[in-house]
Amino acid sequence: MAERWLRNVRLECVRGDITNQADIDAIVNAANAELRTGGGVAGAIHRAAGPALEQECRPLAPIRPGQAVVTGAHRLPNRAVIHCLGPVYGRDEPAEELLAACYQQALELAHRHGLRSVAFPAISTGAFGYPVEEATRVALNAIAGALPQAPAVTHVRFVLFGAPDLAVYERELESLEGTEPGD
Ligand code: ADP
Repeated sequence: MAERWLRNVRLECVRGDITNQADIDAIVNAANAELRTGGGVAGAIHRAAGPALEQECRPLAPIRPGQAVVTGAHRLPNRAVIHCLGPVYGRDEPAEELLAACYQQALELAHRHGLRSVAFPAISTGAFGYPVEEATRVALNAIAGALPQAPAVTHVRFVLFGAPDLAVYERELESLEGTEPGD
């Protein structure tokens, strides 16, 4: 676990399962365009939320790479799910901008809905093939850039499934420009 503060916002990374973040207002889904269940994060979220999540998602689909939409959390222990469609690496371009847009739009939606804490998985780094180190830098820079426009959000958690991904996040979080609590 590593933690940084950006002004009064707590950024942390932990190893775990995105569906098991009961203290967080909104969890982020690494969604598919149809907002359906599937493998990876989307499968885990839809299984835990129950079939009513897919029903709520149906009229919102399809979404474009870089886009985010918000729904209720149904049987999940959170207040909302923010569904982001990351770029497929090597296909959706410009990949970096599209991936950054996911994080920026997710924070903007959280702010607008009064969701103070948000947990992200490593969007696009599974089935969509985005190299983890590059994706981590894009994610952290996008979030650092978007936080000033999303002042309702005071806590951002990155939930990594595997130890190697957590190690990358810990390293990149350490090297992010930041401040200590109370600064
Ligand atoms: P994408 O299609 O955007 O690449 P995936 O769901 O395939 O999304 O994977 C994104 C990342 O999330 C991968 O690093 C994968 O190992 C991880 N992951 C898979 N399931 C979970 C889960 N339940 N909680 C957190 N991370 C997960």
